[in-house]
Amino acid sequence: MTEVASTSTQQGKEQPIKASEIDPHFKYELQKIHGGEKILKCFQCGTCTSDCPVARFSDSYRPRTLIHMAQLGLKDRVLNSDTLWLCAACFTCTDRCPQDVEVANVIRVFRNLAADKGCIPQVFKDQAQSLIETGYAYKIPDLRIKKRESQGLPPLPKGNPQSVCKVLKGVKFFERTQPQKPAGENANAQQ
Ligand code: SF4
Ligand code: SF4
Repeated sequence: MTEVASTSTQQGKEQPIKASEIDPHFKYELQKIHGGEKILKCFQCGTCTSDCPVARFSDSYRPRTLIHMAQLGLKDRVLNSDTLWLCAACFTCTDRCPQDVEVANVIRVFRNLAADKGCIPQVFKDQAQSLIETGYAYKIPDLRIKKRESQGLPPLPKGNPQSVCKVLKGVKFFERTQPQKPAGENANAQQ
């Protein structure tokens, strides 16, 4: 296979780029998606990575690198990247980028495209399942509920999954995450 160049992986090692994995249209597709319009303005200064609180504590998460890979057309590498899901959506990078790339929005666009391909870490699939079943991203363990009762604390407020499902429908949440139907309910009927 022809190697046309190399780029740093998110683990910091050089990884050859094969011509066959370059999608020259990817960056233009991104420009057409809300949030990705300014990706070609990035001139790789590295400010986003240097100010990112997640990158500070991670050996692998580098928003600058993700944007660089996208500009190069490495679509599969970007969308299959586990580190994509480490972004905390704090928007520090968006505030600091000298080119107004709106980096956090670009990361969101990457995630949505990854989700469309079914590339979602299991932990987020579990959260999706919990959302449609309980209205909360995390199921409160029975042990925690009993502990509250033993301490004389009031019951936690009930979630409203029906209302949550109505909101989720608008962002194609069900198509993207494909959660299982809750027992005794038709989740997609909420859509
Ligand atoms: S701060 Fe902006 S211009 Fe600099 S590398 Fe990040 S996205 Fe690119
Ligand atoms: S929004 Fe994501 S990429 Fe940007 S600084 Fe925060 S954690 Fe880092």
